[in-house]
Amino acid sequence: MAKTFSLMIHGGAGALDNIKDDRIAVRYLESLRVILEHGRESLAQDATAVEAVETCASQLEDDPLFNAGCGSVLTEHGHVEMDAGIMDGRDLTAGAVAAVSNIANPIQLARLVMDGSEHLMLSGEGALRFADHCGMERTPDHYFLTPERVAQLNTARLKHRVMLDHDDAEDAGEEQKYGTIGAVARDASGNLAAATSTGGIVNKRMGRVGDSPVIGAGLYADNETCAVSATGYGEHLMRAVIAKTISDLILFQGYGAQDAVTAGIAYLQRKVAGRGGVIVIDKAGYCAGGFTTRKMIHGWIEHGGETICRF
Ligand code: ASP
Repeated sequence: MAKTFSLMIHGGAGALDNIKDDRIAVRYLESLRVILEHGRESLAQDATAVEAVETCASQLEDDPLFNAGCGSVLTEHGHVEMDAGIMDGRDLTAGAVAAVSNIANPIQLARLVMDGSEHLMLSGEGALRFADHCGMERTPDHYFLTPERVAQLNTARLKHRVMLDHDDAEDAGEEQKYGTIGAVARDASGNLAAATSTGGIVNKRMGRVGDSPVIGAGLYADNETCAVSATGYGEHLMRAVIAKTISDLILFQGYGAQDAVTAGIAYLQRKVAGRGGVIVIDKAGYCAGGFTTRKMIHGWIEHGGETICRF
């Protein structure tokens, strides 16, 4: 098992009512499959876990189906403010950006913060200045402001509420379409990494930061335990420190990925009635996913085996 790699990605948790339409379901699953196959090729050619999660997350950010990068949902003022984080399980180094606009691939900026700054997280204007300093181009507003996102915001405004991209509240209706993204990997050398990227939740307040860039909440990676990426209501996931809780279940209880996910999801439910889900690869390369919502779009390759994608 030692020389094989594992890779797991998600495209958000929620009701995903729109995927009752088979054609839309196929598009989601096909997108995950293509990205996983690409990840398989690069991990087979000795890409590191950090490289693999950054590439997968970038590809998901570039797909307007998902709530990250070009498909990001809108704030109460009709703007895009994105959060992203990346973590290297070799030495617990990490980089994150919060509330950034006009960046096509926030996960790549998070990686630059990890590798090229003395900080862990940069936010707003400061993050943009760092992007300029690194030579990263600013992307114009029209790249992000799709007609679907404007319609989704209008629906949320009419209901006077914020909502998950794939909301599963009773009155969620048809407007919830896309999802936050994440990737976890174990490379052939046994190193773990995690990445999470999001536009956040629909109709959120300006300046709101969710779990996705917060180490221990939206992501965690430690070669001694596992790599985790979370999705769902950030306020719940942060209160439960869900990613670190799952890592601690492995560290202190000796659980494998599946037991840690089961116990972690039960904890999220019990402590904060949390709505969300996680994907996990443990140090032995086993993959597991769990969620309290009706569905979570996810897919994986365990120990270099078959590609599996599901809701
Ligand atoms: N966790 C994200 C946030 O709260 C949203 C999501 O996962 O869909 O910003």
